[in-house]
Amino acid sequence: MNILFPYIDKKPEHYLSKYPPRKTTALRMAPSPTGYLHIGSLGMALTCRMLSNQSKGVFYLRIEDTDQKREVVDATERMVAAFNQYGVRFDEGYTFGGNYGPYIQSERTEIYQTFAKNLVERGRAYPCFCTSADLEKTREIQTKNKTDIGYHGQYATCQNLTEAQIKQNITDGKPFAIRLRPSTPAGTRIGWNDPSRGHMELPAIINHPIILKSNGTPPYNFAHVIDDVLMRTSHVVRGEEWLPSTAEHIEIHRAMFDTDPTWAYVHPPVICVDEDGRKRKLSKRKDRHALAETFIENGYPKLALIDYLLTLYNTDYEMWRIENPTAPYADFPFRFEKIGKNSPLFDINKLNHISRNIIARKTKAEINAEVDEYFAGKNIETTKIKAILAVDRETEKPRKDIASYSEILTEYDYLFNRPNVTVEIDPTKGMTMKQKRMLLTGRETGPSLDAIMEILGPKEVAARLK
Ligand code: GLU
Repeated sequence: MNILFPYIDKKPEHYLSKYPPRKTTALRMAPSPTGYLHIGSLGMALTCRMLSNQSKGVFYLRIEDTDQKREVVDATERMVAAFNQYGVRFDEGYTFGGNYGPYIQSERTEIYQTFAKNLVERGRAYPCFCTSADLEKTREIQTKNKTDIGYHGQYATCQNLTEAQIKQNITDGKPFAIRLRPSTPAGTRIGWNDPSRGHMELPAIINHPIILKSNGTPPYNFAHVIDDVLMRTSHVVRGEEWLPSTAEHIEIHRAMFDTDPTWAYVHPPVICVDEDGRKRKLSKRKDRHALAETFIENGYPKLALIDYLLTLYNTDYEMWRIENPTAPYADFPFRFEKIGKNSPLFDINKLNHISRNIIARKTKAEINAEVDEYFAGKNIETTKIKAILAVDRETEKPRKDIASYSEILTEYDYLFNRPNVTVEIDPTKGMTMKQKRMLLTGRETGPSLDAIMEILGPKEVAARLK
């Protein structure tokens, strides 16, 4: 079948020997550049990094850019930057190098075509010349016949084309996709072992999935299997939204090697939000809290989001954190069985609570450095900010006023602007303390008045109390 991809002269064996098996575990993060870094991806990356450290393995970054239509121009660059800001370290991968690359799918087309060509030569896949109009017609017939929609059985017309017909179509310049011919009998089930969920299974697929599109590039299902084989992945940790397609991915692996994948599939749950009483996925496009960058822009300490995400993904993390409040998060003894099974709801109040405690525990020197970092280039005088954040710091009962550095500007707005308040003073009693605070800060509570007066200075205090 050299008429398909005539320029491909390699065999799968070439790549299988080029990328030898590893001696350690290998985990990967495989984001698609269809948006900036999602907090779910950050949470999974942190979990993989911990697992990789604890098993003394390799953690690599692969960019899955097969969906060029949905690609966001600077997404890859910004995702790499965001991983870096949160201290997620990769041992190899895109921009990091390594011996198992290229680590970006758009540079691996030749590899995918080599495997697809080989599948066709072995009768495990075939070219499909159906146009979208043909597929639409099939769908109408299937709807009328109340049969499963898809390319299967009698409806998979291209599976029976002879070599001569295929040659003719190609000579006529007809575009074609490559489809897999499933080999697991319909009606049986495909099972696998997930170290966190236990034994899992799904019905064998009947649909003949596309493994190469008519432009010669693969969809995720095929690309992921080839890449994880050649990059010698030991654990495919990916969002639960991929769980339903796992039978298809195993089927693709079976077609290539007659065996099931050697890696373990782990599907942590996806983070959701409550929308009018309905749970839906936290979306990069709709929810600003979905993006890891948002929390940096708002001045959350990085550890606050890290601790929160690890709490969402690992059911025993919160307890461990209570028992080890100052330990590095990487010391957490990760266990697969403790990965959550139900989709957690994103809860900003819980994140704020974690963050307040983290900020409260920081020393004056740490706070000063973080304030400088957050306000750099923002044209805001930080002397008074540092002074107010020093109040009660490094004591037994530190203040827990703020959850993020951006909150300083609202929580302590009186440092910069005179409050717009008036108070009725009873001439017989004079000004109460409470009233004094209101005039100075516009608030009923806050740090001690002595401290506030010292920070504002006598002239400003006199002007506010006039
Ligand atoms: N590229 C897929 C995504 O961004 C990742 C799936 C995987 O990790 O295999 O959802």
